[in-house]
Amino acid sequence: MKPEVEIYDTTLRDGTQGEGVSFSVADKLHLVERLDAVGIHYVEGGWPGSNPRDIEFFNLARRRRFRRARLAAFGSTRRKQVAVENDDQVRLLLDAETPVVTLFGKTWLLHVKEVLGTTPDENLAMIADTIRYLKDHGRCVIYDAEHGFDGYKDNPEYALATFEAAEHAGADTVVLCDTNGGALPQEVSAITEVVHGRLTTRLGIHTHNDIGLGVANALAAVLAGATHAQGTINGYGERTGNCNLTTLIPNLAFKLNKRCLPEASLRKLKELSLYVDEVANLRHDPRQPWVGSTAFAHKGGMHVNAVQKIARSFEHIDPALVGNSRRVLVSDLAGRSNIVLKARELGFDLSNSTQELKTILARIKELEHKGYEFEAAEASLALLIRKILQHQEPPFRIETYHVSMRRDGQSSVVEATVRVRVGDQLAHTVAEGDGPVNALDSALRLALVQFFPRIKKVKLTDYKVRIVDSVTGTAATTRVLIESTDGREEWGTVGVNENIIDASLEALVDSMEYLLLRKS
Ligand SMILES: [Zn+2]
Repeated sequence: MKPEVEIYDTTLRDGTQGEGVSFSVADKLHLVERLDAVGIHYVEGGWPGSNPRDIEFFNLARRRRFRRARLAAFGSTRRKQVAVENDDQVRLLLDAETPVVTLFGKTWLLHVKEVLGTTPDENLAMIADTIRYLKDHGRCVIYDAEHGFDGYKDNPEYALATFEAAEHAGADTVVLCDTNGGALPQEVSAITEVVHGRLTTRLGIHTHNDIGLGVANALAAVLAGATHAQGTINGYGERTGNCNLTTLIPNLAFKLNKRCLPEASLRKLKELSLYVDEVANLRHDPRQPWVGSTAFAHKGGMHVNAVQKIARSFEHIDPALVGNSRRVLVSDLAGRSNIVLKARELGFDLSNSTQELKTILARIKELEHKGYEFEAAEASLALLIRKILQHQEPPFRIETYHVSMRRDGQSSVVEATVRVRVGDQLAHTVAEGDGPVNALDSALRLALVQFFPRIKKVKLTDYKVRIVDSVTGTAATTRVLIESTDGREEWGTVGVNENIIDASLEALVDSMEYLLLRKS
């Protein structure tokens, strides 16, 4: 199946320009495998001329075979007044031994004169020489026209001359870049159309999200003739990020009906998005379009009723198409139908006439009154419903625990001990941590992993503490929300207590119980 729009991922290069994003060589290799598995057409691995880590990455990556993805090394055109074969940075691009080289060059005369300090003609020669040289060495060459739109707006003749220089030298794709991220869709559309009329080479688009239009601009370019789109997973990238591929891809597929990735891969988009955040050690953005956890969440009572009757009444598309799912947010405003729908979504067979419904509602109301909140803690809610419906025994019980802290010179050490019962067996474990909750979490895992090896996969991704105003006017209580993931799914749990450690432990226990009891 030939794609109508090729997808080019630059998470490993442009994505790492973002604040707080960095990948080890091992991380990068894992990420390429994942991107390849979903059928991304090009994966840019890095800039060998910019750091030794990227050189090491290409040394390891070239020994691997990929199913679909073609690996690209990124670099710039030759330096001014230097023969291309004598340019070290260009030599490193060949040494990377990738099938594809992506080369960026200057479009904007401001940059040519003020930043490079060279002449318009020499810049054209730098573009042409470098592309020809790489073509002579058998590479597929993608030419990234830096400031493609800003340069065009400043001087259309010169901008077109640079694109044509790239085409005549043999570039396989010419990519217009909105490097500063300030273009509007109608500008992108008009300029792409002109360039499309002038070139016969495949045209691509590379956008940044500085004014929130990264995806919109990429779509505008595709509608004007581009058939190659660059971006990053979850929109990582410098400043406000690059065009977000987890938004762009479903928009191309479902809104513009442009074939890009196989349908089965589209159903793995949410999983891919979670996986990349996990490797980057970043919290998943719940409000991300398409793949965020609130992308198909409904709260208001009337919306919930309508969605229950006809999904498309308040949903633009079926969430399963991108591997997401509908969620009903529970709040004390919600009535019986919310709970029924929520319970069904969590996999319970419940209807308005289920006997236990009253007990469940009463229990939720009581807990909410105490300060519990289930909107971000659906796993705790699922456990609550399960306990009432199925009278199920918990998979383990904590019999006792102890936490102590001592100060040792400059640093303090926290130690936790837990005694856990599983059936008729007991486990007694000790662990240290950088805080009481961390120490307890470690001790509890050590105990449980002996009985349930899959606990090993669980990671805490977020830990939030709130002081809840006591309704009764006595001591203030603490609410702890924990988010966990096993790389496939993420779930939230809650604990409430006057004591922060007890509240944390309650949320921790719920998190592990949820994993052990869920149907997988
Ligand atoms: Zn960029």
